[in-house]
Amino acid sequence: NSFEDFKLNRQLLNAVAEAGYEQPTPIQQQAIPLAMAGHDVLGIAQTGTGKTAAYILPLLMKTKYAQGHHPRVLILAPTRELVMQIDKAIAELGKYTDIRHVALYGGIGPKAQIEAVQKGVDILVTTPGRFSDIYGRGEIVVKHLNTLVMDEADKMMDMGFMPQIRKILEVIPVKRQNMLFSATFPTKVEELSYEFLEFPMRVEV
Ligand code: AMP
Repeated sequence: NSFEDFKLNRQLLNAVAEAGYEQPTPIQQQAIPLAMAGHDVLGIAQTGTGKTAAYILPLLMKTKYAQGHHPRVLILAPTRELVMQIDKAIAELGKYTDIRHVALYGGIGPKAQIEAVQKGVDILVTTPGRFSDIYGRGEIVVKHLNTLVMDEADKMMDMGFMPQIRKILEVIPVKRQNMLFSATFPTKVEELSYEFLEFPMRVEV
């Protein structure tokens, strides 16, 4: 089993090799082909399993290159730390592409983040709170979003982000690919998955 088995392009395969990934992890083996085939994906996987690359590689393949001005992919994560970590993984795996990615999170003023969005962005990684703030200022155009990822969905439920997430779901295009990753699968996350995934393929490690 090798990354060469996936239909990833050379830019991504080179970045994967330089990151030191020799073999896909079990969650990557299962999730990458499903995500690349366009399915909604429900992934039950903890941190340390390689779940981030499992959705980032298909996202980078789908996004292909910098295009237009407005984000096509939205990744929601519960904390500033996780947002920064995901953004770093996109930078590393996308380093031979020109795909633009911006991280939005609280704890600092929004000005620099808004300016980054204004320059043009393909993939937006954000906490629900900071997204709502900057969207509320009219600074994020959502009509080109075609992919939504929720990472650590269980933590987002625990932290009380459901009302904000629901509002985000109300304003983004209905026709899109969805991926939900969660370390655990309690009732709350199950309900969320019914609400926002369409015929999901479930992968679990
Ligand atoms: P994650 O579960 O996404 O937080 O990833 C945990 C760590 O595993 C990160 O430091 C990744 O860079 C690393 N990683 C992800 N996929 C692989 C792989 N296929 N081989 C080796 N390391 C990996």
